[in-house]
Amino acid sequence: MRPMTSPPLLSPSPCALVLRLLHLSRAPRRRNPTAARRPPCTFRHCLPVFLSAAMSSSASTTAPDSVIADPSTLARKVADIRAAGPAKLQVIADFDGTLTRYWYNGARGQSSHGLLRQGNEEYDAKREALYQHYHPIEICPDIPLPEKAKLMEEWWEKTHGLLIEGGLTYDAIKNSVFDAAIAFRDGVVELFEYLEERDIPVLVFSAGLADIIEEVFQQKLHRSFKNIKVVSNRMVFNEEGRLVAFKGKTIHVLNKNEHALDMAAPVHNNLGDPNGSIDDYSLVKRRTNVLLLGDHIGDLGMSDGLNYENRIAAGFLNANIEKSLKDYSKAFDIVYLNDATMQGVVKLVADLCP
Ligand SMILES: [Mg+2]
Repeated sequence: MRPMTSPPLLSPSPCALVLRLLHLSRAPRRRNPTAARRPPCTFRHCLPVFLSAAMSSSASTTAPDSVIADPSTLARKVADIRAAGPAKLQVIADFDGTLTRYWYNGARGQSSHGLLRQGNEEYDAKREALYQHYHPIEICPDIPLPEKAKLMEEWWEKTHGLLIEGGLTYDAIKNSVFDAAIAFRDGVVELFEYLEERDIPVLVFSAGLADIIEEVFQQKLHRSFKNIKVVSNRMVFNEEGRLVAFKGKTIHVLNKNEHALDMAAPVHNNLGDPNGSIDDYSLVKRRTNVLLLGDHIGDLGMSDGLNYENRIAAGFLNANIEKSLKDYSKAFDIVYLNDATMQGVVKLVADLCP
């Protein structure tokens, strides 16, 4: 399935660009009958700040599904990336809350971290205790970054140690994913197919576990894509399917970026290289135009380590919209609101690489 053919996004008028993106991102969305549990969306008062030059009279009476703070900058980036062609483009995506939905059947969806049940209650409880200790550190704004990074590494390594000690099996991962409240956003398959047809690599960066994410791909999409690589912590299982080690250096929440390519286990298969060269890193790093997808401002760090020429950052603002819209609009070139589908990104990519 491919996106609908659409005329080029580019327009000499930034206002037209914004209106077009707003229009494009208003693809029909799944309406959840239990969505009343979501926090109310009360961001309308912010709109004049970002959209006063862009909203038409009809649009201004309706809450948009996306917001663009600087239309002219986005228009320039789109033009530059389009002119350079698909061979220069790569997509960098966060997994949880970005490729996956924030809400699932009216409640918070599970993360690739949170869904794992080790099949051993004692060890599930021990990992939960680590979460209770370290998560407040993770979100504390007062701890200096180097110190926090050290503590995050400590948390991740302790957790990995518990997974080994508790005898995690691959079957437990399969069962956990099967039972999990996790789903991809509508339009994700369409996006991946469009990118695959054009040999545009997608690096999915996660501080979670590659094996779980790949199992989610397997069970929820029932297919694989040759252009998608998960850069995350990768497990080693013995012949009985029991976890015995982790490959590469630990990738945690504060170092998941293009440096992680060098730290992670080798990214096998080719990344848009028809000859299947093993030099994946340099292939990716030669693609100096980036479409970055994330759901936290910290996700912008995923392109650290890459000397990019143009980067379009698309953010999914899933919750606390009133509080966070201003910051997200400064950080991301385009912000998709209210747990949006991936259709806005599909259309954006179709305009970047027609
Ligand atoms: Mg995320």
